[in-house]
Amino acid sequence: MNYNEEMKKIVNSFDSKKTILLHSCCGPCSSSVIERLKEYFDITVIYYNPNIEPLEEYLKRKDEQIRLLKELNIKYLDIDYLNEEYHDAIKGYEKEPENGARCPICYNLRMERTASLAKEKGYDYFGTTLTVSPHKPSKIINEIGLNLQEKYQIPFLVADFKKEDGYKRSIELSKKYNLYRQDYCGCAYSRRNNNEE
Ligand code: SF4
Repeated sequence: MNYNEEMKKIVNSFDSKKTILLHSCCGPCSSSVIERLKEYFDITVIYYNPNIEPLEEYLKRKDEQIRLLKELNIKYLDIDYLNEEYHDAIKGYEKEPENGARCPICYNLRMERTASLAKEKGYDYFGTTLTVSPHKPSKIINEIGLNLQEKYQIPFLVADFKKEDGYKRSIELSKKYNLYRQDYCGCAYSRRNNNEE
């Protein structure tokens, strides 16, 4: 499936802006996604990332996310740091390499909380910024989103935000807003792997 063509068909069918609860992994990734979607959606960002370790790194990324949203005048839904939810979910997969079997569980955890909150709070759509990263497989992320769409009965915005210069634009916007850009994915395992490289 061409996810961006699908997304364009969806947004071009709107006769007015829809609401979306957008899961964001970090400020830099959210920057180009917000720019792309704000014409079509009334956006609320949720920063639910219990995978990010240690706590000070989580808070650093969260502060940058909130600072960007204030600059862009975008709404923000706060949620606690629930690191134990991440460890419960990935139990048994700790030794997997980055992009192995642990990562889809991690994506699903973050996207499922977003879908359930979006449904509970009456948003029209839910989505995620995760596909901006060239390291993240868009097919897996979109399949998870479509499964959650069925489970929670709320539409998922399919997309491949890295494409059409989405990743490149996130780097430009990160420079423009002087955003902190991390050098590892998030969990302690990815930090260790990165340091070993
Ligand atoms: S490497 Fe990234 S996506 Fe994979 S489990 Fe760790 S934080 Fe999640």
